[in-house]
Amino acid sequence: MAQKRKASKKKPTAKRPQRKRPTKEKITPVEEILFRVEGKMSTFGGPRDTGMSADEGLALFTPADLKDPKYSYLFLPTPPPGTTGLGRRLNPDKYYFACRWNYNDTPREFLKRALARVENPSNGRSADARPADWGPHISTGRVADLSPGLAAALGLQTDDVVRITISALRAIPVKPAKGAKRAAPVSRTAPPGKPIIKQFIRSPNCSCRKVGTKIDKIVLHCTEGSLASALAEFQRSDSRKVSAHYVIDRNGDIYQMVNDADCANHCMGANPGSIGIEHVGGETDALAAPQAAASAALIRWLLQEHQIPRTNIFGHDFTPGYSRPGGTSCPDKLFGPVHSQATIAAWVAANV
Ligand SMILES: [Zn+2]
Repeated sequence: MAQKRKASKKKPTAKRPQRKRPTKEKITPVEEILFRVEGKMSTFGGPRDTGMSADEGLALFTPADLKDPKYSYLFLPTPPPGTTGLGRRLNPDKYYFACRWNYNDTPREFLKRALARVENPSNGRSADARPADWGPHISTGRVADLSPGLAAALGLQTDDVVRITISALRAIPVKPAKGAKRAAPVSRTAPPGKPIIKQFIRSPNCSCRKVGTKIDKIVLHCTEGSLASALAEFQRSDSRKVSAHYVIDRNGDIYQMVNDADCANHCMGANPGSIGIEHVGGETDALAAPQAAASAALIRWLLQEHQIPRTNIFGHDFTPGYSRPGGTSCPDKLFGPVHSQATIAAWVAANV
């Protein structure tokens, strides 16, 4: 929970936030860094953050933004009882954060549309998040406040070290900042890296993709059972002979069982051109926060790696070509309470 956030709405008058210039790159292409901090963090926002007053607002958002779907997903549908400010109305499960911005370098309108990469340097986990507020106060000795959901997804606790980067590749500048360097021509030279695979456990239930078959879909599944049972089932060659390329545990650990280049048996009728991702969960479970972050990171990498259109991410039951008679309840309630492709698409729009 955040402490000493009282002064957080004030425009910074003191020091500029510490910025690291991009250090000399070796041979990797230069990523234009517009903002970067690394240091201690805490958490803030949402109904339970009593460090924020009931009427405290946010530096980057106004009540009018609640009507804009680009921003409204960051907030709870109604104000928590006894509160009127946007700070306590933040949805603590969404990924947002606060830093001590210098609005000359990174103007409010720019920040509002920017997507930052937030990393836990100690375990390599990362997630994308939205700037939401100015803070924490310099006296806390911290460089950033993260949403509780973001901190949990990255495995961060108060006073752990976080690294936050906004690069030209991920931001959508409204207008160039006064005096700021102009962004280099945007090039797709810094794709997201492949998330860490905890273990590759080969499944025998796969085949070579036919020559010339393009990978053009990602299919999302729910295991409807434990991690152990999924890993065991996918290693059996004497049973249903099913598999998936990836299995993501509820703590965010990613297991790979089939190479992307090969065809897994996860979505009858749609296996040849698809990558299958299983998520550990029961029939009524939603994704756990770390699992959602891992899934989004993996999907981002797959989209880039195989040049898959963003519109081709499907829930198992809604995959074009899926042909099992009677269909399936998969992916159940992992991505939202309604069993529909619209639910999947909304989750992708908000998270990937
Ligand atoms: Zn499935």
